[in-house]
Amino acid sequence: MQTALTQQLLQTAAGREADEILRNCVHCGFCNATCPTYQLTGDELDGPRGRIYLIKQVLEGHAPTARTRLHLDRCLTCRACETTCPSGVDYHRLLDTGRTLTEQATVRPFAQRLLRRALRRVLTCRACFRLLLGSGRLLRPLLPGVLKQHIPVRQRIDTWHPGPRHERSVLMLAGCVQPVLAPQINHATEQVLYALGINVVKEHGDACCGALSHHLGATEEALQFARRNIDAWWPHIERGAEAIIVTASGCAPMVKDYGRLLADDFRYARKADRVSELARDISEYLAAQSPLHVLQQAPGTRVAFHSPCSLQHGLQINGVVEALLRSLGYTLTTVSDPHLCCGSAGTYSILQRSLARRLRDNKLAALQQDSPALIATANIGCHTHLSGQAGVPVLHWIELLATLIPGSNHDHA
Ligand code: SF4
Ligand code: SF4
Repeated sequence: MQTALTQQLLQTAAGREADEILRNCVHCGFCNATCPTYQLTGDELDGPRGRIYLIKQVLEGHAPTARTRLHLDRCLTCRACETTCPSGVDYHRLLDTGRTLTEQATVRPFAQRLLRRALRRVLTCRACFRLLLGSGRLLRPLLPGVLKQHIPVRQRIDTWHPGPRHERSVLMLAGCVQPVLAPQINHATEQVLYALGINVVKEHGDACCGALSHHLGATEEALQFARRNIDAWWPHIERGAEAIIVTASGCAPMVKDYGRLLADDFRYARKADRVSELARDISEYLAAQSPLHVLQQAPGTRVAFHSPCSLQHGLQINGVVEALLRSLGYTLTTVSDPHLCCGSAGTYSILQRSLARRLRDNKLAALQQDSPALIATANIGCHTHLSGQAGVPVLHWIELLATLIPGSNHDHA
């Protein structure tokens, strides 16, 4: 594609990167075929090719409008288009630049600004979110059904104390909403890793990975979260932690991107690179621990696996969780259109409710078509978004592995 970016932009790293990405696009439109929002609305501007065109206009000096912003807002950042694109167009980086420029050049209505700010404040702060969720649970009996389904019930966590320390250790990103909404996920991860001879070092100084702020256009805030995590983790890295485990697949691409995002920060660039090198989604880390012989075999339970977009398109980890579950005795049921997003997408399910609901209903129909006993996924956003309406239990796949530890008290298998 021919481009004519403004000279001012071409003098910045982001501008030059955007120019290169645009030049890779041959405007073939193959990507539209797998874009969830294009499939729903049929509007060219709600597909990747149309959005690329809108971003190109902004980069070439045309003022973005509320309509530009609307079509960029409707993008799930699911990256299904990147998996499909034959030219390797790095769409999400172009979108980041397009969104930042559009955010700077347009003014959102007051209610939108307030909601986006509130989401950034509350969801990235564990204490604030815990308070909000606790209040919601107290009021739950009084709320109408439609609101009730958004407030997950409290999960019971068994008391567990690891035995003697193992030699190997890993760090684990606690996350922001996950330990409050579903503390059993990190708990199960700790138990599975301990059974494999690996200690999990808990670092209470860490924070949100920054993805939420990043996707809401608050770039500097996202970088502050990254710096805080690096500071918290660095002493443990120096003491030999062999990996940084991320149990929410939506957070893993962000931590793996710290090196690139902080490349121009001379105080953090080197450490950020090292953190990115050590970051592992729990599935890729476990797949490299061979074999998982300490775990028992499952009794053939039928499981529908929902692979989050962050896992299959962002991290390009495909079939790994499925292979792990099969090797441990689970039966994976058929799921049609597995490449399509469930509509969770960070704060998308709150900010674009109508599209998110339609995507969730389609996804649940696909997941439940082959009568699974339960749905397993890998990201807290998808987990929460699907749980409210699913006819079977929804859980993180690592919880299934925890049930296979000899002597386990878990009962999902
Ligand atoms: S992003 Fe890729 S698939 Fe989409 S129009 Fe451009 S080259 Fe074609
Ligand atoms: S990231 Fe997802 S929603 Fe956005 S354009 Fe690509 S396929 Fe469509």
